[in-house]
Amino acid sequence: MVLALVGCLIGGPVVAGCGAPGEGGPVTSPSGRAESASPGHASPGVSDLRDRWPSAQVIRAGEAVVVGARPEAELRDIAAAADEAWQRCRAVWPEQPPPPVILAPATSEQGKALRDDARLVSPDPADGRPGPPDSSGKAVTDGTATDGAATDGAAAEGAAATTVVVGDPPHSRARVHLGTGAWDALTDEGRRVVLTHECVHVALSAQPRPDAPRWLVEGVAEYVAYRDSPVSLEDVWEPLREKVTRDGVPDTLPAADDFEPVEGTRPRSLEQRRLTYAEASSAAATYARLHGESALVGLVVTGPPGGGRDRDAYGRSQAELLPAWQTDLRRGSQR
Ligand SMILES: [Zn+2]
Repeated sequence: MVLALVGCLIGGPVVAGCGAPGEGGPVTSPSGRAESASPGHASPGVSDLRDRWPSAQVIRAGEAVVVGARPEAELRDIAAAADEAWQRCRAVWPEQPPPPVILAPATSEQGKALRDDARLVSPDPADGRPGPPDSSGKAVTDGTATDGAATDGAAAEGAAATTVVVGDPPHSRARVHLGTGAWDALTDEGRRVVLTHECVHVALSAQPRPDAPRWLVEGVAEYVAYRDSPVSLEDVWEPLREKVTRDGVPDTLPAADDFEPVEGTRPRSLEQRRLTYAEASSAAATYARLHGESALVGLVVTGPPGGGRDRDAYGRSQAELLPAWQTDLRRGSQR
């Protein structure tokens, strides 16, 4: 049984008050529509929420489902953003991605309860697949949108959204947990960006996948998240460009540990972690420039071209990519 949590690090341009281009723009997907006052009707697995969130509503917009005890208008906005995010992911995904199921706690206490009780995302008993034996939240998230003081335990609390995956594909089940404070601080477009990033994690969790390196997974999630957004990756890369101008290009692509919220016992600053995500997304963009966008998505979905789904095969692709990525970074820093 696998319990994996993957979160999303939010760049400055999409946090409220940062003047993001397109902030407050219209949502083109259908408005959310309340379908049921009982979360049990949403989809298998969310019925566990009935006891804990008796006032929860289930809102659907297009393919997306949101369950939460927040005001209905807020849930509708989240559902509409989630459907838009799913369509953005679908536009580049080679398979039909599973639609997202979003759990939207109303308070930080509800959010903590979600993190503490993975039964809330586990398959229904009728599925015959028990939840994970140890679901105490020891797994990691890959981001926080609050500040650099996040500790391991606080990382999920500070994240705007975290995708929680229980079980092994193709029988796994993914839920996107929204944060409270960090989520509320996002612009409308920031929310669509975050949800699109999480839709990529949901899509990746649906089928057995090659053992792709972390920079590639997060880089593709970021690439897809910003692909159809009025906020461009160019804006997100600005701190990276400044760093390259100051210190030169990185010697390597980011390591898996670089995405963790702590280094040893020391918390990583938000700036440090944003740089790591920017490195990942810029490397993904270099790959897309060289080989095309569908080859980039294929790299994480089916593995490197020419066969091989293991780390050695990825290592060869990475060795080819590194100098081209460094060249792109040098050029970008000279603009
Ligand atoms: Zn992520």
